[in-house]
Amino acid sequence: MVDRLVNSEANARRIATVESCFGANGQPLAIPGRVLVGEGVVTKMCRKKPKTRQFFLFNDILVYGNIVMDKKKYNKQHIIPLEEVKLENLEDDGILKNGWLIRTPTKSFAVYAATATEKTEWMAHINKCVEDLLKKTGKKPSLEHAAVWIPDAEASICMHCRKTQFTVLNRRHHCRKCGAVVCNPCSNKKFLLPAQSSKPLRVCLSCYDTLTKARANQGELPVKPANKSVNQDSSGEDDSEDEIDDSGKNDDPIKGLDNLSIDEKPTFYGDTAEPPSDSTSPTTCDVSNTISSNDNACSGGAPTDTGCSGNDSSTCDAGSTSCD
Ligand SMILES: [Zn+2]
Ligand SMILES: [Zn+2]
Repeated sequence: MVDRLVNSEANARRIATVESCFGANGQPLAIPGRVLVGEGVVTKMCRKKPKTRQFFLFNDILVYGNIVMDKKKYNKQHIIPLEEVKLENLEDDGILKNGWLIRTPTKSFAVYAATATEKTEWMAHINKCVEDLLKKTGKKPSLEHAAVWIPDAEASICMHCRKTQFTVLNRRHHCRKCGAVVCNPCSNKKFLLPAQSSKPLRVCLSCYDTLTKARANQGELPVKPANKSVNQDSSGEDDSEDEIDDSGKNDDPIKGLDNLSIDEKPTFYGDTAEPPSDSTSPTTCDVSNTISSNDNACSGGAPTDTGCSGNDSSTCDAGSTSCD
């Protein structure tokens, strides 16, 4: 069902719209064979707190970014190759509901949808895309995945020594192997984790021990160099480097979550009865027939040349606090 979108004008236009919403901050996204499968707002658990992010599911990559202006402007683009992705269900936990893990060899994190239905939709679509992609490329799914970082707020003291109280000076650090929040002395060693980086990374003392022993047992096997593509997603966002304090600046305000008046459901373009133009046209692309009006509903209503200038110039409300 996604296949029939491959050569469609509507798909090309949607991708162009996403591209222009990221502007110069983003990578070119239009490549032959790529389909935008769906998009929507998802809450991503970051180091400091949950933050709303716009996600775009393509048939080969997952892209997300910060919402600067809903449907118009996004920044901090992250691109995750789907062949590395593995999803894991998360049980509801207090206010954290409808979540799942997105795990990759380089980075793993939790995301939350607004409703259980949306969660099911997202997970099903992502899993389907991963499955189809692996089938197509003949690659094997990744077996090793980066640890999910424990959010800062969950640790007021070091999770290793259980003594150090975190303060402005006693900064929190994350073990790249287990994701624990630890103090500096408890994470002053580095270890080469080739799946994550070509450089040795900060690990906690427990992990350092375990890793060192494991390596000794293996008799110093040469480690494979890090996969080049992996660093696409380590562009220094909030949770990718614990040396960077992102508290506040150039990010959404803390009220991000309540501010989510973007209470819009995700859109999945390949789904069944997509109205007029797309679904009526056969797989061969009938250009004359593809200026679809239904796209207004789907991709921000901007079938114009400027791409992102939606149909309503006053739509700054959703993100007005970050519109400065
Ligand atoms: Zn410690
Ligand atoms: Zn550790």
